[in-house]
Amino acid sequence: MSIDRSTIWQYRDGEPGEFVYSRYAHPTGVEAERALAALEGAPEGQALLFASGSAAATALVLALLGPGQTIALAEGAYFGTGVIMEELKRWGLRHVEFDQTGPPPADADLVWLEAPSNPFLTMPDLEAAAAHPARVVVDSTAATPIHLRPLEHGADFVLHSGTKYLAGHHDALVGVVVSRAADAHERLWRFRQRTGSVCAPDVAWLLLRGLKTLRVRVERQTETARVLAERLAAHPGVATVRYAGIGGLMSFDVRGDAQTVERSTRLIKNATSLGGTESTIESRHRWEGDRVPVNLLRMSVGLEDPDELWADLEQAIG
Ligand code: PLP
Repeated sequence: MSIDRSTIWQYRDGEPGEFVYSRYAHPTGVEAERALAALEGAPEGQALLFASGSAAATALVLALLGPGQTIALAEGAYFGTGVIMEELKRWGLRHVEFDQTGPPPADADLVWLEAPSNPFLTMPDLEAAAAHPARVVVDSTAATPIHLRPLEHGADFVLHSGTKYLAGHHDALVGVVVSRAADAHERLWRFRQRTGSVCAPDVAWLLLRGLKTLRVRVERQTETARVLAERLAAHPGVATVRYAGIGGLMSFDVRGDAQTVERSTRLIKNATSLGGTESTIESRHRWEGDRVPVNLLRMSVGLEDPDELWADLEQAIG
């Protein structure tokens, strides 16, 4: 489809039409939102794009909760999600971390899971979370709808950093929230419209284009990641491998110095982020400190030849 970059659309006979002002909605965004709602098995159109995954997470928390309420956040979830919640402490929001492989704490007002967690690669117990009276958010960035559709397991919201697998090429920053309930979707839309954390039409277009190849990319990345995880587990220079069995994200601890390994790769890019067609690797200790082992490397497996990736890892670890 073509990109409509207008910020305004003319009224007809003095009546505003479907599109009015692009902070409210724009045609390219709505097209992408329809596709995402369908992919996640949500009611028609109940998905919203945001300026980034972090903007989506912030909007979700601010729109749903108020001062004095508590979020139960999966331990080992994306570092930046905890940072957002720390930031919102000043506004009276509390958060507690819990082991997402078991039930959430009883006093939570919102349960926040990550499937699989980045970079610890644990999978949440979705059934235990769905049995909790609070609403449940699943950050499904690394699983993608190819491997998991959280709404089918009782989640109320699915969140994505669309920057990763959905857009898929390290060239678009975008967030997504898919909602099960119409009233929650409406509330979030209103919040986004008022606060303006929207996604530009060009970015929505890149996301739509990424979705066309989502299945082939993710299936191939999963196949390669399975091979690499197995080979890494058998390598004498590797102490631990964390891989959830789905998707292209994994982490492993080397017996030597992780920063030497990341500097030694040739094919695999030493860069942050995940979900692109090109593999990336980095030591997460530089960002997350003692929350992660000093010798942990996070790797996002791309579309390169699996044997070439293995040869690169082997020489770098060596
Ligand atoms: N959720 C997960 C699991 C992530 O890995 C990230 C980014 O790394 C985010 C959310 C935040 O997304 P963004 O970088 O698009 O703001």
